[in-house]
Amino acid sequence: LTEQLFAGVDIGGTKISVLITDGGGRAVGRAKKKSKPEKGFRGVMDRAAQTVAEACDAAGVDVGSIKAAGVGAPSPILPNGTAINATNMGWKNVPLAEALRERLKMPVFAENDCNAGTFGEYALGKRQRKGTLIGLFMGTGLGGGLVMNGKLVTGDNSMAAEIGHMTVNVDGRPCGCGKRGCLEAYASKTGMAYAFKEAILLEKRESILPKLMEDAGYDNVRSSLLKRAWDEGDAVVREALAQAARYLGVAAGNLITLLGPETIVFGGGVFDALGKELLPLVKASTKEHAFPPQSLADTSLELAQLGDDAVALGAMAYARSRLLAPS
Ligand SMILES: [Zn+2]
Repeated sequence: LTEQLFAGVDIGGTKISVLITDGGGRAVGRAKKKSKPEKGFRGVMDRAAQTVAEACDAAGVDVGSIKAAGVGAPSPILPNGTAINATNMGWKNVPLAEALRERLKMPVFAENDCNAGTFGEYALGKRQRKGTLIGLFMGTGLGGGLVMNGKLVTGDNSMAAEIGHMTVNVDGRPCGCGKRGCLEAYASKTGMAYAFKEAILLEKRESILPKLMEDAGYDNVRSSLLKRAWDEGDAVVREALAQAARYLGVAAGNLITLLGPETIVFGGGVFDALGKELLPLVKASTKEHAFPPQSLADTSLELAQLGDDAVALGAMAYARSRLLAPS
């Protein structure tokens, strides 16, 4: 199967990234395009299909030679490839896999982007894995995924493993989902924006963030700026990130208590920029929240390895697995 070619498609609110890989996940071509969600679902699907064609050009292969495509998108996705609700794309119940299948004339399998990213870490990460793996990805939001027995777990309702919306503080901050105290309300850029606004605008604390940000809002501070502020010792930014790490540890501890996984990986833009700084804080907090205490020794807390390509690679690996073992 390693000689066969696959496409991995990562559809996000700002861009579409496509990788063409061999069966082992080695990239042979890639392309990128703005996703332009304002053009509607069909417009985004057209652009995704074009991006696949461009990536094939870059790889010097025909679209017809691709065995299957995997697509990851920011929505819960049913086994038939329907995207139920992608708020930042403006999609509700759209036939994601089917629309791409029609355009690309090949088998297409769709998964939630963070599920895909988690599956990629499981199937293509450096270490050979067999046990349970949980992925937590901190960027604009907090996405998660769960692989058990070599398969993504999405529950009997196909909607499970939305780890970012597990409650970690019952009386906590409001979350974009309408609940309170979700993990995402603390451990994400959207969540940290609360801490920034409170400290800088309300308490008038000093921070280099306003200067670094220029006119951009606090809702989605670039990870590279968070890293710069951290390096310069900015107390407001360090506290917000430490709080994010603390709540990630609460979630990781609970997940260890529930599932006793072999591995939890931490990825996404914030960890790609600040992984070395944050991982020790996450570990310290996890230690306080896992039970029994000795269960900690059996779970490895690690940084994700696939970086920016995690979703595209994971979607490719997911398509490959579905092709091998249709379910
Ligand atoms: Zn929530």
